[in-house]
Amino acid sequence: MKCALCLSSEPLRNSHIIPEFQYKPIYDAKHRMHVISSDADKRDKFEQKGLREKLLCDKCEVHISKWEDYACRVLFDDEAKLLSKSEKAIHLHGIDYPKFKLFLLSLLWRMSVAKGEFWKKVQLGPLEERLRVCLLNSDPLAADDYPCLLCPVLIDGHFDVGWLMPPDRTRANGHNVYRVIINGILFCFFASTHAKKLGLSVYSINEQGHMRLTVEEARQMPFVSQMLNALGKAVRQRGGSQRAD
Ligand SMILES: [Zn+2]
Repeated sequence: MKCALCLSSEPLRNSHIIPEFQYKPIYDAKHRMHVISSDADKRDKFEQKGLREKLLCDKCEVHISKWEDYACRVLFDDEAKLLSKSEKAIHLHGIDYPKFKLFLLSLLWRMSVAKGEFWKKVQLGPLEERLRVCLLNSDPLAADDYPCLLCPVLIDGHFDVGWLMPPDRTRANGHNVYRVIINGILFCFFASTHAKKLGLSVYSINEQGHMRLTVEEARQMPFVSQMLNALGKAVRQRGGSQRAD
């Protein structure tokens, strides 16, 4: 098998589809990861090994991991500067645009090239190859190209990093939008070429290093609240806590 990024025939690593840093808080004390599945029969399922596939060679793992490390510090540490914060929005600045955008593009691309059942709804078609070349050449494209909106999701007013929801695809104003929740943060990728007309770079990461995160309550987001309701039911059946931690 060839490396999915550089296409060389080097030995492949067991690569994380979602960056490794994002797994740490998701694993519980027994090293199981809490996954909320969109499949009614597999809801509230624990994965023992995380979501890995033979995907990248050593060199490409290193290439992508530097963007992941940076994004981790922006999202979960104090790498970015806080410009303003309200109940509804968090406005960050001082972010390195190429590194953060390449992290986002690499996440979208990996979900598409992954073969596992968990990722089946992410199919980028010709965009997959375009992103592969961008990632290989460290080309972050423009801010309006394939923008991604980030929303910390509150559950009854609290932010919880201990959960993950598999990606799905929806349509918004004629655009393909892929949604995935990782560590309690919803990533909305606008994967249409013409999405650049939407001018979303005001909200997504932009070349000036600004990014606006919209805080959303799970109950206000039907696709999230339906899954959380299902989770609550499954957890009650098991007699455990309702929280995903
Ligand atoms: Zn490679």
